[in-house]
Amino acid sequence: MSKGTKIPGYMQGKGRNPRGIIGDREIRYKCSLQNTILDVLRGRPGWQEVPGDGDWDFYWCDREWLHQNYDTMFLYEHQKILHFRNHYELTRKNLMVKNLKRLKKQTEREQGKAEGLSFEFFPTTYELPSEYHIFVEEFKKNPGIIWIMKPAARAQGRGIFLFRRLKDITDWKKGEYQPLSDPNRDAPETYVVQRYIENPYLIGGRKFDVRVYVLVVSYNPLKVWLYRSGFARFSNTRFSLDSIEDTYVHLTNVAIQKNAPDYDPDKGCKWSTQQLRKYLSAKHGVDAVRKAYKGIDNIIIKSLQSVQKIIINDKHCFEMYGYDILFDSDLKPWLIEINASPSLTASGKEDYELKFGLLNDLLNVLDLENRLTGKEKRIGGWDLLWEDGPILADDGNMECVPNGNTTTIPNSFLGCHNDRKRQLRELYMAAQSVKKT
Ligand code: ADP
Repeated sequence: MSKGTKIPGYMQGKGRNPRGIIGDREIRYKCSLQNTILDVLRGRPGWQEVPGDGDWDFYWCDREWLHQNYDTMFLYEHQKILHFRNHYELTRKNLMVKNLKRLKKQTEREQGKAEGLSFEFFPTTYELPSEYHIFVEEFKKNPGIIWIMKPAARAQGRGIFLFRRLKDITDWKKGEYQPLSDPNRDAPETYVVQRYIENPYLIGGRKFDVRVYVLVVSYNPLKVWLYRSGFARFSNTRFSLDSIEDTYVHLTNVAIQKNAPDYDPDKGCKWSTQQLRKYLSAKHGVDAVRKAYKGIDNIIIKSLQSVQKIIINDKHCFEMYGYDILFDSDLKPWLIEINASPSLTASGKEDYELKFGLLNDLLNVLDLENRLTGKEKRIGGWDLLWEDGPILADDGNMECVPNGNTTTIPNSFLGCHNDRKRQLRELYMAAQSVKKT
């Protein structure tokens, strides 16, 4: 990594320009992952992989690398790197809820209780062991309901279990909570205990959640893009509350479902967001679906606002989040969790195409090539959802909208047709002619 002593390539020779853009030399990238993102970077014309410690313009690094290096590294004007320094404020389950509760309270104080209702999208949650006693009070007020226990910092469904009776967590308490009394043992792992959504929306009797991709290119001002394509992940086994110990019924993670005894790897257990939106629209009508999906926009913006003042904003950093959203039987979306490293490994051909397009379009948004005007509202499959305020849709961008009233339609098209290649061709032609004039 450059420490500020070398002159970066873009300042040498002809490629120089006032914005510190790379100009006419190749773009040098590094990548910590061996999956779709590497294929995308390798396939990008004019981009060159940097071996070892060479200077880079773009780094798709892993979170550990960033933690170890961020505080001591110097970044040139044009360099871009994945992840913000303290992304965990949103992606660790306990911290996400803490930040959301705080913004909810502040909103209620400043704008009234009614405004606070717009935060009713995350299930009641407590951190354990620190909030164990408050949890027990809440537990006693709601006898018979189901709770879900999740390790705060783990992923892929690991360590999760459901329970109905306090005595069901006695074993967990013995293992995780009591060690505090033994000074030689590690501090207990932080968990969250959360109200289980007992009435998920079912398709074919199965539960699913939806992976939604969100790109933040700046926290201050907040600038957010929403990708139109994603997928719903179904559980392999019909939903029932009779067997709460059966993870194949209750956890929709692919990492869990692929181990189910009757899992079919060819069929998988995914639907595209386009398939899902079409299905829901046919069943409930376009307007009902638009209302439900507006709830997803609200989840995205409120959750990002809840950490806006905490995240160390750095113009070199960006983040691509994977949001996990669960619909209940009333089609109300709930936020389950937010991932800063959503899986980019493809589970099949369709999944590969989705992820390849997603990542290629992400690089188009970041525009290290300086091919765009910076005023675009749609780039490939990404739609600009928020830039210091909500973005409204343009006339030519009205998919999934019944009566085409552009003044009130947000620029949000999750699950709508994603003709990204055609759109990009037109976009680049338009940007070129704007730049010429
Ligand atoms: P992980 O990070 O381990 O994937 P999640 O919080 O995403 O943990 O939970 C894993 C799965 O468990 C989710 O994809 C969802 O299917 C299910 N789940 C989690 N929380 C709830 C909840 N409160 N109500 C219903 N289902 C839930």
